[in-house]
Amino acid sequence: MGSKNLDIIRMSAAELAAALQAGTVTSVEAVQAHLDRIAAVDPGENGVHAYLHVNAEEALAVAAEVDALRAADETLHPLAGVPIAIKDLIVTKGQPTTAGSKMLEGWMSPYDATVIEKIREAKLPMLGKTNLDEFAMGSSTEHSAYGNTRNPWDLGRIPGGSGGGSAAAVAAFEAPLALGTDTGGSIRQPGAVTGTVGSKPTYGGVSRYGAIAMASSLDQIGPVTRTVMDAALLHELIGGHDPKDSTSLNEPVPALVAAAEQGAAGDLSGMRIGVIRELQGEGYEPGVQQRFDEALELLRGAGASIVEVSCPNLQYALAAYYLIMPSEVSSNLAKFDGVRYGKRVVPTEGPVTIERVMGSTRAANFGDEVKRRIILGTYALSAGYYDAYYGSAQKVRTLIQRDFDAAFAEADVLISPTSPTVAFEFGAKSDDPLAMYLNDVATIPANMAGIPGISVPGGLSEGLPVGIQFLAPAHEDARMYRAGAALEALLEKQWGGPLLAQAPDIEAAIAAAGQGEVA
Ligand code: GLN
Repeated sequence: MGSKNLDIIRMSAAELAAALQAGTVTSVEAVQAHLDRIAAVDPGENGVHAYLHVNAEEALAVAAEVDALRAADETLHPLAGVPIAIKDLIVTKGQPTTAGSKMLEGWMSPYDATVIEKIREAKLPMLGKTNLDEFAMGSSTEHSAYGNTRNPWDLGRIPGGSGGGSAAAVAAFEAPLALGTDTGGSIRQPGAVTGTVGSKPTYGGVSRYGAIAMASSLDQIGPVTRTVMDAALLHELIGGHDPKDSTSLNEPVPALVAAAEQGAAGDLSGMRIGVIRELQGEGYEPGVQQRFDEALELLRGAGASIVEVSCPNLQYALAAYYLIMPSEVSSNLAKFDGVRYGKRVVPTEGPVTIERVMGSTRAANFGDEVKRRIILGTYALSAGYYDAYYGSAQKVRTLIQRDFDAAFAEADVLISPTSPTVAFEFGAKSDDPLAMYLNDVATIPANMAGIPGISVPGGLSEGLPVGIQFLAPAHEDARMYRAGAALEALLEKQWGGPLLAQAPDIEAAIAAAGQGEVA
């Protein structure tokens, strides 16, 4: 790969946008550099496999259009011409959407999600669709029907999930920006384990229209990037009211870019940062805890006051999530029956009744994890059990919200590690659903309460990235961008540049893996 190409793919979205505006790089060059990178590191047995579908032709056409408009001095969106990757749970006209499932193999949406309309309007070339756990259920991307995505830091390890494809694409310099969805941590946890930034907006802050629903009261679309500033830029672009989403907030997008700028200047005086007592200690790897403690010291040094807060009901968050989420899953996925939606599978033996067609379609096309959750949710919602399970879980949800309200009376933002561990090896947890679920202890509470959360790189533990999570009250997303940008700036000063600059040379690693040197 030429050195100009390498320079281009290593730029943040903000830097690339500036280069496009200055005319030192064209959008066609930017898209081509990323397509070349994808071709170099994504395919093959040991490739990253971040993408399920690459959209070269359309991306280059949009880029050429941006270059022509710029040459004609037309006013463009600041991110016009900067390429982006899209989690394959978000529907796109003219490109396949699989949700990581055989159920939607070959399906093309007849319409665009609202976030995709905004991206088209602002003219960001879409590079393609990224891999995910089937219907966004998982923490490792191992539940995808289309194979594993590899963590660019170690090709033998998971990139997190469910949005492992988006995070790996951004971490491997196969896209400067990506979109994810977060129902229980699927933007933030992949961000943490790949050394990237993942942001989950306030519930309702970004339209969910066109995000294939997993659990509608928890789902939220958000940015996956390499810097906090890039996340703020993308969040401002995709946010805002949408009449097509009945839970969309009818209020302007907060001033996130300004907040990130303020944070990056390094002054946090007056900010109270609350350490959540219940999200530390037991279950956290020592290296994760260490990076977390160092982050607190840095933030204190920047003028923030660190206070301890207690959210006692967070201990029930995971249990309540695994009742509410599957309940909504069982209802949302009922439409995939081979009649209304989904690739129909007709039984080869016996009578062909509609029930049997639906049954064979669902049996053949859903993976084990999806079936497990549909069964659990159907049980939790069934007559006689509803109050004991779903009803109780909803009460816990209210208690968690109250805990956060009380904590935010004492602190402006809250802080915790994003994930208790660094990226684990393939297969380490795939046979043990409970071990997999435990990855999300720190991320799930935000979805239960509808509050925003961001994960920023916090350093390495044994050579693998650790994420630090900031949470803010609903509607106050700006606060977490300010705190996140401050921590990022302080840490990058220590590291002498971005954390990803320390990542191994992935082309060499893929070549070595091809010769059997790496598992
Ligand atoms: N890992 C969590 C789960 O499996 C979160 C998924 C998500 O946020 N989409 O449910």
